[in-house]
Amino acid sequence: MTDIVTVTRGPSPLILSMPHPGTDLPPEVHAALNERGRLVEDTDWHMRELYAFAERFQPTIVEAGLSRYVIDLNRDPSGASLYPGQATTELVPTTTFDGAPIWATPPDEAEIARRREAYFQPYHDALAAEIARAKATHGWCLLWDCHSIKSVIPRLFPGTLPTLNLGTNSGASCAPAVETAATAAMAGHALTQIANGRFKGGWITRHYGRPQDGVHAIQMEIALSAYLAKEAPPWRFDAATARPLQTALDSIIDAALAAAMVQSVGLGR
Ligand SMILES: [Zn+2]
Repeated sequence: MTDIVTVTRGPSPLILSMPHPGTDLPPEVHAALNERGRLVEDTDWHMRELYAFAERFQPTIVEAGLSRYVIDLNRDPSGASLYPGQATTELVPTTTFDGAPIWATPPDEAEIARRREAYFQPYHDALAAEIARAKATHGWCLLWDCHSIKSVIPRLFPGTLPTLNLGTNSGASCAPAVETAATAAMAGHALTQIANGRFKGGWITRHYGRPQDGVHAIQMEIALSAYLAKEAPPWRFDAATARPLQTALDSIIDAALAAAMVQSVGLGR
């Protein structure tokens, strides 16, 4: 079985969190899913390949190996909705994003609690430890939560999603200067974009983002159409399509890091 979480340590204050690129299913979860669920279609495909450019920042990468259908690492473990009143998927999703049922045997409360212990907790223990390590070394860190999603999902949002969806929990998860620098860098690229639109940052951004303690968290939700050959199986990475997106992400991260560093020495206050 794939590891629940893989940590690749780097010396810089940048931490890339990748909670949804995993496609692996523990045997008992595989057995409980239906045929549709076993396709794990709602995966954040090829995150490591997409973020290969970020090597120059010497980041720490915390990456999940299991599918989000096992348990969603970017949801409140209490089960509270991220977007009350709006359609969203749950801590353990009951359907695909499109609304198709994924379980032959839906998990009960005891099974969800078991998965929280066995699969949710190890990812967050690892992420929390890397945030603490970066803070101990640098006094601050930039937590960049990496996501991607199909650009057309009528059940979740109208029309076509912008390519770049930057989320800071409406300004709460990083210093204002960090968000300003990131959105200004983003605006320099000819890709459709929005800050704190439909996706404002999930539980990871909201839980770990503590700018007053030097932890600046940003979620970047990306339309899959910006780096895949098409938004359908076999979900093939397309290097030429991805290049402008990678160039944009590189400059946005660079700007956010520079702004966060200024914050850390108090010059931005
Ligand atoms: Zn995601």
